[in-house]
Amino acid sequence: MTPPQTIMSCIFCKIISGVVPVPGRGGESPAQILYRDDLVTAFRDIHPIAPTHILIVTNRHIDSVNELEPVDESLVGHMVMVAKQLAAQEGIAEPGYRLIFNTGAHGGQTVFHLHLHLIGGRLARVVVPVSARGFALE
Ligand code: 5GP
Ligand code: ZN
Repeated sequence: MTPPQTIMSCIFCKIISGVVPVPGRGGESPAQILYRDDLVTAFRDIHPIAPTHILIVTNRHIDSVNELEPVDESLVGHMVMVAKQLAAQEGIAEPGYRLIFNTGAHGGQTVFHLHLHLIGGRLARVVVPVSARGFALE
């Protein structure tokens, strides 16, 4: 599948490179970048679905989990560790939070630049088991 964004038009590449501000909660300001290091950048989602909704984004453009290579294992581990650190900063380590990599059309991915959603601050919706929606479990 051809992703809808090219690197040149990718909104997350633009945010990471500072070409556009992060129009997240609290106004348009570079201060909305919550965390940055050599590998990842984190900022608030523009359409938060919970009191805390942060995106941990790879600095390098990677379309999705499908394009990850074995050499990227430590990068993905790093994304999770940064999410854990941000969850503690946001005060949601307890009672907990959800980490999500949406992947591809059926996964609900809309921005084809690898990112991890950190979502918390309220009780997450219960995920309906696949079998309850009429799909056979293998
Ligand atoms: P996906 O659906 O690909 O898993 O998640 C993409 C997320 O990026 C969505 O939750 C969407 O609200 C967020 N998003 C899209 N464009 C922007 C933007 O320009 N700035 C910020 N901060 N978030 C964005
Ligand atoms: Zn990108």
